[in-house]
Amino acid sequence: MRRAIMKRFILVLVGAMVFSGILFYTTVSNTMHKNTKEDMRLSLITLDNSLDYTESLMNQIKILSTTLDQKKARYTILNDKGDVVADTGTKDIERLENHLEREEVKEALKDGLGYAKRYSTTMETQMLYTAISSNKSDYILRIAIPYSGNSEYLLWLLPSIVISITVSALLAVVMSDTLTKSITRPLYQIASIMDNYKEENPELSLPSTPYEELNIIAQSAKKMADSVKKYTEGIEFERMVRQEFFSNASHELKTPITSIRGYTELLLGGFTSDKATSEDFMKRILTETENMTNLINDILMISRLETRDYEIETTEIRMAILLQDVINTLQPIAVKQGVHLQTECKPAIINANRQHMRELLNNLIGNAIKYNKPNGMVYVTINTLGRDLMIVVKDTGVGIPKDSMARVFERFYRVDKGRSRKVDGTGLGLSIVKHIVNYYGGNITLESELNVGSTFTVRLPEVKANS
Ligand code: ADP
Repeated sequence: MRRAIMKRFILVLVGAMVFSGILFYTTVSNTMHKNTKEDMRLSLITLDNSLDYTESLMNQIKILSTTLDQKKARYTILNDKGDVVADTGTKDIERLENHLEREEVKEALKDGLGYAKRYSTTMETQMLYTAISSNKSDYILRIAIPYSGNSEYLLWLLPSIVISITVSALLAVVMSDTLTKSITRPLYQIASIMDNYKEENPELSLPSTPYEELNIIAQSAKKMADSVKKYTEGIEFERMVRQEFFSNASHELKTPITSIRGYTELLLGGFTSDKATSEDFMKRILTETENMTNLINDILMISRLETRDYEIETTEIRMAILLQDVINTLQPIAVKQGVHLQTECKPAIINANRQHMRELLNNLIGNAIKYNKPNGMVYVTINTLGRDLMIVVKDTGVGIPKDSMARVFERFYRVDKGRSRKVDGTGLGLSIVKHIVNYYGGNITLESELNVGSTFTVRLPEVKANS
């Protein structure tokens, strides 16, 4: 990259120098050409003023020819018929042909001033001619100098042009090296920091450079690194959660299986011949099987809610009917526990999955009954708030200790392992409730006081709650 930048930089600079050299040369040589013509005109005017046209012109011109370098300038005086009357180039004016047809003479006769550039056979070189018509007489005064076009000045200007191109080319080499280094250094720096970037590095910090474009690259690299880090952290967290979930689930399943195995072995080993005891064992096996089924169903429910990748069918649900249905199933348990249920439901119809709503009510009301006291109360209120649906389940039960309040929604979390097991808890009920609430973009809040009771409030937004 450095070589490429350097090569291009030098190429552009030399190109620019050659271009400006040509421009400089043409401008200067044009100005010099103009100045030369003007000088020639002025010298002719001076000559015109100094000549005495009543005296011999040839004699007066002769004085000039002695001081003039014949190779540098030649003066000629012509009459208005174009005949040469005096000339510093030759004494033999008789041999000179008529000059009337010469361009500069024609122009001088017409406009008072004329120029021409052509090859002179007399001087045997390219010449520049300037002619004026005399102010004091009818004569034409002409001056000629050797002139080889604009290339005339090339020899003068060439050294300075060559020097300036060489100096700037050398400067370009030195400068392009510094410039390319200043561009590539931060690039190397960024690349090396990114190469050394490892996950254990807490932050990827890239240097700020004087080049905005490089800073943009550095910023994008930082953003990318950050998001990759976040993503890997997310994956790592998910992996940990999953692992914990599997280990908890297998542990939870192990307990009923061990129990079933124990009772079955007792039965098979003929440990008891008593019919009542055998029946009791079998009932226990059945209860454990039910527990396992409940656990597996709960696990399946959570995994479906988490993956979200299967079609969840939604229907219009009349909340009052569904609530009554759930109450009917739970009533026998409530009666058994000596807990009284009180419900109040506004006529709300929502668009949701029936199984989800049933599970939500069943878990919240089921818990309110399970973790209650004899003669305790459970109040269920379903209401609408704008387009939102509000479900409040309040009990006068054992309550939840402050430090457990945030954790009860975690999978397999139980406040009191022993007590919960006794009341058929899987530890997944509230986690399922939370997953369902999240699925509909709602929220759940918990207020509780130990030994006084708990209140769970669910808010489901925009679920087409009609009253
Ligand atoms: P479980 O299947 O054990 O009931 P949950 O996820 O439904 O699991 O509840 C988690 C824990 O939160 C329960 O073990 C219980 O200790 C506590 N809990 C839930 N609801 C109530 C409630 N209404 N009153 C008191 N404690 C409760």
